[in-house]
Amino acid sequence: MKFETKAIRTQTDRSQHHEHSTPIFATSSFVFDDAEHMRALFANEETGNIYSRFTNPSVREFELKMAALEEGENCIATSTGMAAIFATFASLLKSGDHLLMSRAVFGSTFKINDDYLAKWGIEYDYLNPLDMHQWESLVKPTTRLLYLETPSNPGLDIIDLKAASDFCRQHDILLVVDNCFATPYLQRPLTVGADISIHSATKYIDGQGRVMGGAIIASNEIIEQIYPFMKNAGPSLSPFNAWVLSKSLETLAIRMDRHCENARKVAQWLESRPEVSVVKYPFLPSNAGYETAIKQMKAGGGMISFELKGGLQAGVKMIDSRQMMSLSANLGDTRTIITHPASSTHSKLTPEQRHAAGISDGLIRLSVGLEHVTDIIDDLHLS
Ligand SMILES: *Cc1c(COP(=O)(O)O)cnc(C)c1O
Repeated sequence: MKFETKAIRTQTDRSQHHEHSTPIFATSSFVFDDAEHMRALFANEETGNIYSRFTNPSVREFELKMAALEEGENCIATSTGMAAIFATFASLLKSGDHLLMSRAVFGSTFKINDDYLAKWGIEYDYLNPLDMHQWESLVKPTTRLLYLETPSNPGLDIIDLKAASDFCRQHDILLVVDNCFATPYLQRPLTVGADISIHSATKYIDGQGRVMGGAIIASNEIIEQIYPFMKNAGPSLSPFNAWVLSKSLETLAIRMDRHCENARKVAQWLESRPEVSVVKYPFLPSNAGYETAIKQMKAGGGMISFELKGGLQAGVKMIDSRQMMSLSANLGDTRTIITHPASSTHSKLTPEQRHAAGISDGLIRLSVGLEHVTDIIDDLHLS
């Protein structure tokens, strides 16, 4: 089946009521037929639902869809995107291991390293995602994971996933990709050799700014290593959120088509304006990552970042003169959202860390929504 069909037709078994649309299984636990049934389930001799921290049919449907769309064997859904990232690290890394991470990743991801991995004796180094020659020198005998984000938040750096996975194979490292900005509709890391694809489902997967969620997609072998953390530490996705996200996936393809079309038009318009010094959008031929982006992505996505010649002041003025766009920390919504990373999502980083992640004080991030593109452009007051 094609992507659009899988997004709609992947379903768990129907109940005796023959419902067409999957119900929300709002139940914390499940009942057993008798003592033997209960024993067999707890002993893993039979499959079945026990408790919703472990498994739940609404959650399972979302997981099956995500696995199908990412072309992976299996998926674990989590309560948020950060829970997916944390569960992956907590399950696959142990004291003495070394983690290599792109220096251009989501703000909270850095905090996991500094606040938790460090105190558990896990080492980490940041690499420049755009300089693969440097990667080699950072690999240690204990390096276990390479963690990347492409396109990155908020700089929209593009990393060659095929080259990264070849690099990881060569060094016997697992490649973990945060695929949040691209969604499985635009990019499927596992098909070019990545081992794990991670999502914040809060963004485009929900796509309407309603619920939080996350997903980890990988081989059965890797999922089996992460599942006990989910089951015992408990960052499980709620059945209601899973139901919302599963419904959202049915329209992911058509939503992404329009996000991409609107964003491309806005990016081209910004590039034509004298007030703008730099426009970062993966499918603009002027971008450094363009050749790689067109190779590994179906379209450029809905995110743009740009720099006003007037710097911080012009940026603040632009944000405060908006009439329609939302000033919000989220992204991947039907509504266009404008943010200023240096004063919000990345404010906890030091200026040096921000600079290393490619975030200048005047950088504006735009999550281009599904409003009419003319209205979006009309609301961008550049001077
Ligand atoms: C938002 C985001 C996350 C974290 O997801 P939450 O659902 O907010 O926990 C991780 N990576 C990227 C790229 C994000 O944009």
